[in-house]
Amino acid sequence: MKRLILICIGLAAIGAIAFGGFYLFQRQITTYIFDRGVARTLGQDPTANLSDGLHVYLCGVGSPLPSESAGPCIGIVAGQKAFVFDAGSGSIRNLMRMGFPMEKLQSAYLTHLHSDHIDGLGELLLQAWVSGGRSVPLPVLGPPGTKSVVNGFVAAYQVDRGLRIAHHGETVVNPAGHGATPVEIALQGGSNQKALTVYEKEGVRITAILVDHAPVEPAYGFRVDYKGRSISISGDTIYSPSFVEGSKGVDVMLHEALDPEMVAKMAAALEARGQSRTAKVFRDIPSYHASPEDAARAASEAGAKELVYYHMIPPLTARVLHALWLGNSRDKFTGPITIGEDGMLISLPADGREVHYSRAFR
Ligand SMILES: [Zn+2]
Ligand SMILES: [Zn+2]
Repeated sequence: MKRLILICIGLAAIGAIAFGGFYLFQRQITTYIFDRGVARTLGQDPTANLSDGLHVYLCGVGSPLPSESAGPCIGIVAGQKAFVFDAGSGSIRNLMRMGFPMEKLQSAYLTHLHSDHIDGLGELLLQAWVSGGRSVPLPVLGPPGTKSVVNGFVAAYQVDRGLRIAHHGETVVNPAGHGATPVEIALQGGSNQKALTVYEKEGVRITAILVDHAPVEPAYGFRVDYKGRSISISGDTIYSPSFVEGSKGVDVMLHEALDPEMVAKMAAALEARGQSRTAKVFRDIPSYHASPEDAARAASEAGAKELVYYHMIPPLTARVLHALWLGNSRDKFTGPITIGEDGMLISLPADGREVHYSRAFR
């Protein structure tokens, strides 16, 4: 008993000394921790250790519904070139946290012009200009209407442009590199043309694919090919035969999805509480999104090797909801299925077969 008391007194004394030491040297200790963090992250090239290949940055897997996930966004690094597909709210901050190489950014692509896919575009243009050190505006490609959207964002950032040039100087923020050049991709539902190569350089090919997000027309998915590896991005769509066709044999299909039963329950709950206006929105949205099973069917018919879900509705706030949301998807697609998360990096080494998943947040 006496020994136990002595041990307790000893432990309490050690604790008091440790606490007192921390309190006394708090500034030195926290300065050391901060300096270590700065040295480890700032100015480092986070792509230095990336193998040659296709790398997919999940910068936003969310939807317009509030959640911890940013709005839809996928960054791609293919060899020495980088691209961004959609720029949902909060996603560009995620992209920067993931160490995305803005200085390698060649162009950005909009799947369609719904607000949740463009509301981070201003931030993308700012980061492309300042972090990316651009000397020419960023090409932004998308469906008809892209010109007015992009020009609107550029106009909204004109005051900021002047403020930053005045403060940092033209050698730091090149006035000629500010903003964006919109390019409208012409793929209309009425024609037979369902896919169009929109970028081809140094082994990287990007193809726009017509998808079905009616009444939003046209809406596009995209496919990226590089050194024998390929991925496709659905954008917003129901099950789309042209997306299946355009995604033939891809290593990874990234597909949006909405669980109609879960959303129907949410609509009913809103209705019951007298929020019929919001309930109506919830009842409308399943008509232009794929269910998780639809996406699994698309992946299977395309012969995709892996399926990754993004832009998930409703937000999957706990892992326990994954099985409910997936429903029978695993019966429809027998390959690996991954529920995407913000910060996930998917790497496909050139000319290989493997697909590596990691977390890239720093
Ligand atoms: Zn949409
Ligand atoms: Zn959307």
